[in-house]
Amino acid sequence: MPQFKVRVSKDYTVFCSGHFITYEGDKCEAVHGHNYRAAAVVEGELGENAYVFDFVTLKRLLRAICNRLDHKLLLPLHNAYLRLSEADNEIIVHYRNKRYVFPRDEVVLLPIENTTAEKLAEWIGGELEATLRAQGARNLTAWEVEVEESFGQAATCRKELA
Ligand SMILES: [Zn+2]
Repeated sequence: MPQFKVRVSKDYTVFCSGHFITYEGDKCEAVHGHNYRAAAVVEGELGENAYVFDFVTLKRLLRAICNRLDHKLLLPLHNAYLRLSEADNEIIVHYRNKRYVFPRDEVVLLPIENTTAEKLAEWIGGELEATLRAQGARNLTAWEVEVEESFGQAATCRKELA
């Protein structure tokens, strides 16, 4: 049986965002940013018009998710080494003896443990999946999202759909 998938990655499926990750256990990077680029793949049976999923819609959905991250600082809600609190429209992050304060509207709080390219790909894929399910795309069997954080440096998350 032939298997089909479609992939989109456009010059507008990008997001320019700030972040910092914890690494090697409890160490923490300095705040910096990337011009991220996202790609999305969906796999599945061909529909009655012989395509897996409409390219135009897939591009639009991926762009909308990227736009939510664009020009924001990305913070993980579930990092064991970062302590987050919110007060007076600010997000305060404590890491050891460091304290960062960011305007609330310039931050995106993500339900992940670290803002690695891997976990960003998983989060984007989850958002995409929720939208695809809401649209009733029942022929899809898997999705894959790639997040490139700099040239030639990307992480991929793939999930099979039950
Ligand atoms: Zn980085």
